[in-house]
Amino acid sequence: MAITYEFIKTCRQTGARLGKVHTPHGSFDTPTFMPVGTLATVKTMSPEELEQMGANIILSNTYHLWLRPGEDIIEEAGGLHKFMNWDGAILTDSGGFQVFSLSDLREIKEEGVHFRNHISGEKLFLSPEKAMQIQNSLGSDIMMAFDECPPYPAEFDYMKKSVERTSRWAERCLEAHQKPDSQGLFGIVQGGEYEELRRQSARDLTSLDFPGYAIGGLSVGEPKDVMNRVLEFTSPLLPENKPRYLMGVGSPDSLIDGAVRGIDMFDCVLPTRIARNGTCMTSVGRLVVRNAKFSRDFRPIDEHCDCHTCRNYSRAYIRHLVKNNETFGFRLTTYHNLYFLLKLMEHVREAIREDRLGDFREEFFEQYGFNKPNAKNF
Ligand SMILES: [Zn+2]
Repeated sequence: MAITYEFIKTCRQTGARLGKVHTPHGSFDTPTFMPVGTLATVKTMSPEELEQMGANIILSNTYHLWLRPGEDIIEEAGGLHKFMNWDGAILTDSGGFQVFSLSDLREIKEEGVHFRNHISGEKLFLSPEKAMQIQNSLGSDIMMAFDECPPYPAEFDYMKKSVERTSRWAERCLEAHQKPDSQGLFGIVQGGEYEELRRQSARDLTSLDFPGYAIGGLSVGEPKDVMNRVLEFTSPLLPENKPRYLMGVGSPDSLIDGAVRGIDMFDCVLPTRIARNGTCMTSVGRLVVRNAKFSRDFRPIDEHCDCHTCRNYSRAYIRHLVKNNETFGFRLTTYHNLYFLLKLMEHVREAIREDRLGDFREEFFEQYGFNKPNAKNF
């Protein structure tokens, strides 16, 4: 088995799990956050910097790499790890989410999805078999099954049909997967906000015995309490001896709330995307470093952070760089935001180990301002 999960303990104050995931490219402690490197690069960061900040696994996007530069070129280079010089673990998505969200001209059929390339307009076809072939060529440690991710909200009847198709597609993915010894394939539980459909999806997928499971179709515009409710009834449907991955979630409060509900892995473009807009996550809330009030502020972005950015550069300097679209400014904010989330997950793991994640959550939310009415979130 390419991917195995080592369960360590459950937090007695919450349902959070402490564990370790073993992959062909090293192990990582869970719960964890995975930085997103869409085009085989976490924008503005070198793999050396990612390693230095403590990232052990990153995510890359199948859809984008399929279109540019093409999975054949990456395979020729010796796989994605070699191509981008990253020795840690890599998870690739199936490409499905991008096809469903980026492309307007798409047609979903039983065999797969016909759509137009969002760059060239060329006609393309993505199916469970094609998604497996591309991910096998990329050589990621964790591959994702090709699923349909319907938008929120979706009607029950549509969602039911979609869930059933996703289960049939999952079977086809397992059959088409050529390298189960070196790459682990995760199934994705769908079903929107409907408990009955989440149950059905979880039942179908766990019967196929994947080495890990994702909960998909969340963080697609639903309110946070809906997401938390869905996690509450979906997470316990998944096997305890396999990792659980919540797709597309990366705001600090959602990471903690997901961990509390038994999630082990998260990914999101949020920390890197807002960094390139001059917005930073800090221990006391968000900080928009572009703001004029920082022009003479010579303190670090976050006074409680010991990252490379915060140890060496001031708000005033970073504001000046970001205001002038200097690449270095975006490197500094990106480094800080990723470090902040990786460190947050380290604190979460520590709190689980000591059975006090509930207290940690209260303190963090208080300090971050999430408990205030109209708190500014991401
Ligand atoms: Zn920092």
